[in-house]
Amino acid sequence: MRLVDVHCHLESEYFSETLPSIIDEAAIAGIVKLITSSITPPEWEVSAKIARTYPSVECALGVHPWYCSADDIPLLDRLREARTMGAVAIGEIGLDRKVSNPPFDLQMRIFEMQLLIAREVDLPVVLHCRGAFDELRSLLRKYGLPQRGGFIHSFSGSAEIAADFSRHGMSFSFGGALTYRNSKKKEEVLRLVYPDRFLLETDSPDIPPVEARDMPNVPANILYNLKAASDILGIAENEIAETSTTNAVHIFGLDI
Ligand SMILES: [Zn+2]
Repeated sequence: MRLVDVHCHLESEYFSETLPSIIDEAAIAGIVKLITSSITPPEWEVSAKIARTYPSVECALGVHPWYCSADDIPLLDRLREARTMGAVAIGEIGLDRKVSNPPFDLQMRIFEMQLLIAREVDLPVVLHCRGAFDELRSLLRKYGLPQRGGFIHSFSGSAEIAADFSRHGMSFSFGGALTYRNSKKKEEVLRLVYPDRFLLETDSPDIPPVEARDMPNVPANILYNLKAASDILGIAENEIAETSTTNAVHIFGLDI
């Protein structure tokens, strides 16, 4: 069984001492690739270095809506070199109306710039979107996704939103929230996006599954997320693993 954790943060200080064993455990769990996403410009070099050090890790470079500041604007130009820096995606980028700071108009400005750069360098986008699906939809109508596509990680929207975004070429990844097998809405969304637009993630060190609630979450816990997806969809774990891995290979152009 081969799995790809399409969204995690191996740069996190939680992993500063333990990264080699975290990556070994991920391999034992069947993870053949991990896509680690930076959240601030100073992290870009850290992400790139982790990807250079571990053959199973690839990186995404970007500025997360929670951590953006006006000072980042002149630095975004450097993302045009993302491919040279070894990145397979631009991320984690996006919009979040559920936080009052940074101000939403700044989030919009920084996200729009990064979306345009991703289109220009033709890398897929790793998106964070909470409470701002309307604004994201307008930007997608205006510009479209990069040709390679992209996905909304830890997708929390409705099936209707998922259907709408799918028409723009969007994929969706699911993580620890799946393990709280409690929602009709989640089931509807999964049924809608599976198989073609479905990806698996952990968002480590965040969003631990219910079976391993202690922080930090680790990529090997993707097996709980896979099991939950299998329970919800009534499809064998092996099949879901292979499908989501094929989708990830396609989006990121992975060589596995
Ligand atoms: Zn994240």
